[in-house]
Amino acid sequence: MPQIIDGKAISAAIKDELKKEVADKNISAVLAVIQVGCDPASTVYVGSKKKACAYIGIGSESFELPEETTEEELIALVDRLNADDKINGILVQLPLPSHIDEKKIINRISPLKDVDGFHPWSVGNLCIGQEGFVSCTPAGIIELLKRSNIEIEGKECVVIGRSNIVGKPMALLLLAENGTVTICHSRTKGLKEICRRADILVAAVGKPKMVTREYVKEGATVIDVGIHRMDDGKLCGDVDFDDVSPVAGAITPVPGGVGPMTIAMLMVNCVKAASRKEN
Ligand code: NAD
Repeated sequence: MPQIIDGKAISAAIKDELKKEVADKNISAVLAVIQVGCDPASTVYVGSKKKACAYIGIGSESFELPEETTEEELIALVDRLNADDKINGILVQLPLPSHIDEKKIINRISPLKDVDGFHPWSVGNLCIGQEGFVSCTPAGIIELLKRSNIEIEGKECVVIGRSNIVGKPMALLLLAENGTVTICHSRTKGLKEICRRADILVAAVGKPKMVTREYVKEGATVIDVGIHRMDDGKLCGDVDFDDVSPVAGAITPVPGGVGPMTIAMLMVNCVKAASRKEN
């Protein structure tokens, strides 16, 4: 049986470490959380983020805006929070209603408060190996690998997916850890053969159970970023866990793998934002 990479336990350990750091160093941090409209999934995510803040000992200020909020009104709020010294991090829960340009809003957040790591400044720093905020899900995957003693250096790493929030930053982070990285996407030819080269395979495709054992080399580490709710109400990932498990060396389950790490790394970024200000 493969090593099951326990994201729940690893994220809990990270949150405990942060809680201690915040108490020991007397760090005072406040995260502003903006939600526009009342998409039920977004409400659940926002609730979990606020709960994590409370656990670690950092403050959160909620801004629950109506669906009909205009782009100008949202920009005005972001500007106000950018200028507010009491606020260390700003999180705008995505997706935004279709009448608001997400890019415009992300680009408006001060790079110093960009705890989601989506601002072009943060992405640029990641690209050239400079200190900055890193997108939480891929940063969480690096932590999962390191804390599970899975070496990245010199390994063949294949990332399926090239989104700005998962695939691309994932590839850059694996590269920064000295992996040999291949990025695959919807137009890639010979996907299975490329994936079978991987020592570390990251699936961020958004297609339930697409990755079967034909994509996986014997003994490979398989990281599943996907989250899908099936008709029976259960969650599954982009990887067919039951099919892949017998051949994988290590694998993340869904739920309980990558998912919990995203919020843990958001908390890492919030503490970093507050510590930076105090320096
Ligand atoms: P996305 O839709 O933005 O990107 C999907 C990528 O997959 C694209 O780059 C596309 O080129 C590629 N792709 C699509 N079909 C493909 C195919 N048949 N073969 C090869 N490549 C293909 O999605 P995303 O935002 O990167 O998210 C991916 C998945 O991860 C989704 O299921 C999402 O719900 C999940 N997700 C989970 C977390 C978490 O915290 N666990 C965070 C973000 C996203």
